[in-house]
Amino acid sequence: KDFSSDQEVRWCPGCGDYAVLKAVQSFLPDLGLARSNIVFVSGIGCSSRFPYYLDTYGMHSIHGRAPSIATGIATAREDLSVWVVTGDGDALSIGGNHLIHALRRNVNMTILLFNNRIYGLTKGQYSPTSEVGKVTKSTPVGSLDHPFNPISLALGAEATFVARTIDSDRKHLTAVLAAAAAHRGTSLVEIYQNCPIFNDGAFDALKGSGKGPDAAESLLRLEPGVEVTVSGRTWAHDPSAPDPADQFALSRLGEHNAQPGTAGPVPIGIFRQIDRPTYDDQARAQVATATQTAAAQGSPTERLTALINTGDTWTVGQA
Ligand code: SF4
Repeated sequence: KDFSSDQEVRWCPGCGDYAVLKAVQSFLPDLGLARSNIVFVSGIGCSSRFPYYLDTYGMHSIHGRAPSIATGIATAREDLSVWVVTGDGDALSIGGNHLIHALRRNVNMTILLFNNRIYGLTKGQYSPTSEVGKVTKSTPVGSLDHPFNPISLALGAEATFVARTIDSDRKHLTAVLAAAAAHRGTSLVEIYQNCPIFNDGAFDALKGSGKGPDAAESLLRLEPGVEVTVSGRTWAHDPSAPDPADQFALSRLGEHNAQPGTAGPVPIGIFRQIDRPTYDDQARAQVATATQTAAAQGSPTERLTALINTGDTWTVGQA
């Protein structure tokens, strides 16, 4: 099965978005779903053109609101595999509120957050993940804003699946996306994505000599049980730990994510993966119970007639 669409791909040559598209196209057949049972919802930004390039259902929606639209879809249609494609500007600026509430509710959807640390579509303004001092068209003498760390943010919202990967490592990218797709609940995957036009080389330090991802010495590849050290404390990484405190400490590691004294390699992989009832499963259960209760009580007319026939006194508003 081929999920490629016949739409012309309109990203700049060399854009990291291509690698993500290829990875998604490669494993979508493994989901074993009909194309009509997969839906990609995007907001606004370069990455948000993603739904055009897949032969699935999709919606190029409203700036920052893709998680909310996807919540409705996931709640109404249990049979769909629901995806959100967003960027650092779309998800963390105008859409910040929508993102954190989707994460805490644990709606059954997979969110791909393309992080290139710049606004690409609008031609190079600083974004919520740009480093302090970033010189851009909108910050000619350097940005003052302290950046969001999307992994720390998602862990703070107690998302049930939180991961990071990078566009230059196809194998890792595909494995993380597949794990996210298999997770029941909200999956948040931050993807370090190079924008060669407006922020080229933002992640070069993580790519080592440039001879491939394995050359990188500044990446810490997270696996269950791998030994990790933060601020002198060492432990075995456990994505299934119910308390995300250790995972949060891990998320602070690395370059400009780092707090004083905590610099170290940048972790990629799955930070957190736990089971928790999903919002949409619980909402459907509530609706089913309410529907059964109403059916047992009869129609509104029948209920009113029964009330009148009791002979009791009753007041307006009583039902
Ligand atoms: Fe990709 Fe940057 Fe071009 Fe947007 S502006 S398509 S992020 S290279």
